Amino acid sequence: MSVQECVKAVQNRVTAAAMAAGRDPSQITLLAATKVQTSDTIREAIAAGITCCGENRVQEFNTHWADGAYEGARVHFIGHLQKNKVKYLVGKVDLIESIDSPELMTAVSDRAVKVGVVQDILIEVNIGAEASKSGVSPEAVENLLSLAAQLPGVRVRGLMSIPPVAQGPDGNCRYFREMQQLFVDMKEKIVDNKNSLDILSMGMSGDFEDAIACGATEVRVGTVLFGQRPPMRQNG
Ligand SMILES: *Cc1c(COP(=O)(O)O)cnc(C)c1O
Repeated sequence: MSVQECVKAVQNRVTAAAMAAGRDPSQITLLAATKVQTSDTIREAIAAGITCCGENRVQEFNTHWADGAYEGARVHFIGHLQKNKVKYLVGKVDLIESIDSPELMTAVSDRAVKVGVVQDILIEVNIGAEASKSGVSPEAVENLLSLAAQLPGVRVRGLMSIPPVAQGPDGNCRYFREMQQLFVDMKEKIVDNKNSLDILSMGMSGDFEDAIACGATEVRVGTVLFGQRPPMRQNG
């Protein structure tokens, strides 16, 4: 199938999953995870109806950005982020989804103040408590929200998670439900009028329909849009 056909097929699956859950399909963002794809493939996906691209690597983002490949779509950063690379993203990407420490949040805010923007961010939660994954524990989210309330350069928009690889049907529902509950609980904790939790980013190619059933407002999908990727390093 062409990228165009895959985009249509996945959009239809998102719509069907939303309807099955009694949700409004227009409230769910289909993010295309574009790691290792070329600028031309990204343009093809946007021409086919993708409105939001997600990048994992600062280097790839810089290349595609310089190419103007994202024109017509929003861009989110979804990969592990080092503090010394914050300067390449702040003020350019619409959302940084992978804030996983007070130090990183502070570095993003400092940079944003310097360039005169307020950067939208998500807090990444390691819901499966996996040693191999980034993200904070569910218990640490509240402290990060308090910190965000004091930092002038960031606005928290919600939570992101990459749960463990699903084991069998319904495999990740338990984690998705935990994330949904955390999302609801944290919304109630917000006391300032800057931050607001309206984005719950979870679900990938193998389980995005389950994530939608559990309240995801954004699903991040690569393989079912672009085909299998060659094996790659985890972070960078
Ligand atoms: C690659 C990636 C995805 C998409 O994964 P697929 O299984 O190919 O759909 C989603 N989220 C993040 C953070 C990723 O790195």
